[in-house]
Order: sequence, then structure tokens, then C-alpha cells
Amino acid sequence: MSKIVLASNNSHKIKEFSKILDEENIQLISQSKLDIPEADETGLTFLENSIIKARNASLIAKLPAIADDSGIEVDALNGRPGIYSARYAGLECDDKANNKLLLKELKDIPFSLRTARYHCTIVYLSSYDHPVPKIYNATWEGYIGTQEIGKNGFGYDPLFYLPEYKCTAAELSESVKNTISHRGQALKTFKEEFIINT
Ligand code: IMP
Repeated sequence: MSKIVLASNNSHKIKEFSKILDEENIQLISQSKLDIPEADETGLTFLENSIIKARNASLIAKLPAIADDSGIEVDALNGRPGIYSARYAGLECDDKANNKLLLKELKDIPFSLRTARYHCTIVYLSSYDHPVPKIYNATWEGYIGTQEIGKNGFGYDPLFYLPEYKCTAAELSESVKNTISHRGQALKTFKEEFIINT
């Protein structure tokens, strides 16, 4: 069984990664279990931040590491909050504050112009100093609704409306979200490649 450290302390992400990778011969250990401190996300792109997180976890754990950096890009806000999605309403903010600010910023924007997408970049590093990280990108398209609907998921999910499902991401079951989401798609590609190469 391969051991990989997951460079995240976000319990929702840990659950999503584990659900998808547990079916394989991969033992995923979250960095919090190993007392690895979170790395500062000083990059300006999803890719830079993913590499920073994976390298930090791999260096301390002395194991291969996987990290993701993700966020939501809103077209009417020129792509904001993007890499700053977790801290959109401030450094100490929570999902509620972020969603409230998003609704406020979009209050005059009609539904047809409220297009947005989740973006996910996953990086796999077989060792902290490996010069060729494996990189997987995926996006998930939707619209920003006008009120929070649904109790599942996390973050912006209650506002992320999916026309083809006629509901928000927070109304999807965990298994449906894992199949179609930005992280689900990027992880699927990682999983397929990992299995072929190990
Ligand atoms: P990260 O942990 O630095 O990658 O920040 C990711 C942030 O993007 C989260 O805290 C959420 O605000 C947002 N985000 C990413 N993926 C999702 C998702 O699947 N649902 C809802 N919000 C998400």
C-alpha cells in the first residue's frame, strides 16, 4: 500500500480526497495527523500554492505528498476571489462571511451574468525536492445564485447553482458532487495516472 500525506487541514477536503482515493491501494494520511503546520500560501497562482503546500508536507513527513489549491472565479468580478477564496472576507473570515460578501458584490448583477467556476489544481510530489511535480487541473462551471440554498458541501456551495441539475452544489449528494466537481475530476485523473504508474 502506498502512503501519501495530504497537505490539507480542511476536514471537507480530507473527506473528499479519502472517499475518492480509499478505493485504491493508497493510504492517505492528513498532515494534521502528523502535526505538520500549514504552509503560508504566498503564491499568486493555484499552481504555486499547491506546490508550496505539497513541498512543505513532503519535506516534514518524508513521504510523497498531494495538495490541492482551489477556489471560485466569478466572471463579473474579473475572476475574484480566485486564489483568495478562503480569505475573501478577511483573514479570520468563515464561509458565511464569504458568501455574504459575494452576494453583496453581485447584488446588481443579473443572473445571466453571474457565471462562475470552481477551479482546482492538484499537485503530487513523490519527494519534496522532485523537480517534476505531477499537475492536474480541472474546473466546474456554474452560476452564483441570489440566496444560499442547501446544507451539503462547504464554502460557496450553497450559492453555486448548476443549471443542468437545477440545484446548488450544496443540494447535491456527496457522491454526485465527488463525481462532477473540480476536485473530483482532478483527483480522478490523478488516480488513473497513479494506478498506471505504480
Ligand atoms: P484552499 O484550501 O486554500 O485551496 O482554499 C479553497 C477555498 O475555495 C475554500 O476555503 C472555499 O472557500 C473555496 N472552495 C474550494 N473548493 C470548494 C468546494 O468544493 N466547495 C465550496 N467552496 C470551495
